[in-house]
Amino acid sequence: MKRVLVTGGAGFVGSHLCERLLEAGNEVLCVDNYYTGTRRNVAHLLDNPCFELMRHDVTFPLFAEVDEIYNLACPASPIHYQFDPVQTTKTSVHGAINMLGLAKRRKAKIFQASTSEVYGDPSVHPQPEEYWGNVNPIGIRSCYDEGKRCAETLFFDYHRQHGLRIKVARIFNTYGPRMHPNDGRVVSNFIVQALRGEDITLYGDGGQTRSFCYVDDLVEGFLRLMNTDDTVTGPINLGNPGEFTMKELAQKVVALTGAKSKLIHLPLPADDPRQRQPDITKAKAILDWTPTVDLDTGLAKTITYFDGLLKSGAD
Ligand code: NAD
Ligand code: UDP
Ligand code: UDP
Repeated sequence: MKRVLVTGGAGFVGSHLCERLLEAGNEVLCVDNYYTGTRRNVAHLLDNPCFELMRHDVTFPLFAEVDEIYNLACPASPIHYQFDPVQTTKTSVHGAINMLGLAKRRKAKIFQASTSEVYGDPSVHPQPEEYWGNVNPIGIRSCYDEGKRCAETLFFDYHRQHGLRIKVARIFNTYGPRMHPNDGRVVSNFIVQALRGEDITLYGDGGQTRSFCYVDDLVEGFLRLMNTDDTVTGPINLGNPGEFTMKELAQKVVALTGAKSKLIHLPLPADDPRQRQPDITKAKAILDWTPTVDLDTGLAKTITYFDGLLKSGAD
């Protein structure tokens, strides 16, 4: 039995990962400061004797005896990571240093939840791992983008300098149950707006594109990457190559919910990437991984989740 640390484990993706790791027979130590995650996301795991939950901020050192680390701690939605941008950079950079220090002391394998944001507003489409990106270093998204880029640098330097076993995944937009209803990301916004019969807020002309991966597919990719042999470091793109405009997404959500909502246009936030689509050739070849849940199916499951949540009165 392995003892696995998941930082950011009470968040959206982290809670699904904790669940899968427990199902596979591991002991899981979930560490989170509840900045954007909630205890509710892992409440159903608390009775499991193999699960331990710890409130801790990864910008401070952590001493724990673990064999593997998944480093997910970091707010992921633009409104949350821009709320306290200095803390966002600290979480990515100091958090990575502390978790890498822990991995070094324990000789533990360590996984980094990096992001397609390292490609910025890309001039290459779709984005392969070799593309170095087009990132504004001083804009409002930079705390997140540059923080994650610096974390990747740290992972590769600990690998080269200290021989650490690293696994870096570049995650593209992911959605599913347990996204926070108010976290401002497009899928949760549109679904919550539709279920409440409110207007659906399209930023800009709605012609910008994203590629959406269902959370179960993503977590499967994490586990496959972690289980590769030590020569595999990544970075590896994980995402669903199906590419949609935000207007198409809004229309799908309206159709699937049967909502009467109107689409309205609001200003486009600064530095909002125009297009994004993963090239997953590497993930297919190295991990034998390909997403299996199409957008309509994943949206239907996510709508069911939010419908239950809103009816229960929680937010
Ligand atoms: P989330 O906000 O739901 O989860 C992040 C978790 O990290 C939360 O539980 C939060 O409380 C915790 N956290 C934040 N700062 C912390 C700190 N200093 N110490 C300890 N815990 C802290 O977001 P998510 O969508 O589950 O994202 C998980 C990871 O995946 C993040 O690192 C994110 O950057 C990355 N990612 C996600 C997506 C996506 O579309 N969901 C895309 C690219 C990358
Ligand atoms: N660290 C940690 N847990 C550990 C070991 C180290 O949080 O089990 C932190 C440690 O406080 C340090 C960081 O990880 O700030 C980097 O550790 P490393 O050994 O690489 O560097 P050093 O301690 O030599 O600065
Ligand atoms: N977006 C939108 N309406 C919303 C929230 C987001 O049109 O209510 C757009 C946003 O401008 C961006 C896309 O949807 O172009 C994805 O936004 P999100 O914040 O989910 O993720 P990211 O921009 O980080 O990919």
